[in-house]
This record gives sequence, structure tokens and C-alpha cells, in this order.
Amino acid sequence: MVGGLPVRALAGDLTLHLPLTCPRCGQVAVHLWFREAGGLGASWAWCSACRATSHSPMDGTPSWWRNLDLPGVALTPLPDQLDRAAEQLDAHVNHLLGAARASSADS
Ligand SMILES: [Zn+2]
Repeated sequence: MVGGLPVRALAGDLTLHLPLTCPRCGQVAVHLWFREAGGLGASWAWCSACRATSHSPMDGTPSWWRNLDLPGVALTPLPDQLDRAAEQLDAHVNHLLGAARASSADS
């Protein structure tokens, strides 16, 4: 299910491009989000279409991750509010992943 996505990202998979195809319903509607705080992380992965959801604490966040302030969006276990900003969140993640791909190609 969608719960494998944060693990893939944390393991260094830079090929992700959001939104992703949902393994449950087949819609291209899966989003991914992280929050880093004091060296610890949390992840959210969810499908806007069928509501498959995964939220878990993690040992850190991917090396490319940068927190984004989201005024008016509460980071609750269920990503209802995140989903309303999904387009903005996807753009942030895709931008970070693109930068990480570019810098890994340089080295
Ligand atoms: Zn789905």
C-alpha cells in the first residue's frame, strides 16, 4: 500500500514524481509529505481518490527533504488538511527531488 513510499524515499529513491499511481485504486492521486523536527521525522502518504493513508514516525527524513511552512494547514494524523493543499505539496516535493537528482548527477 501507500505506506511503502516514505520508506522508498528515505532509502534514497530519487525517481519518485508526484502524484503517484495508487496501488489500491489505480488513480494517479498518491501524495507524500514529511516533517523534520530535531533530527526525527514523520511521514504521510495518502491517496486523494480512495483515501488509503499511511502516517508514521521515521528515523529522520530523506537527505533532500526541507520543511515547508504551511499556514493554515494542520499536520494531523489523517491528512485531510494536507490533501486540500496537495497540489502545492506535490510541487514542493517534486522541486526538492529534481534538485537532488541534479546534484547527484553532478557528483
Ligand atoms: Zn487510491
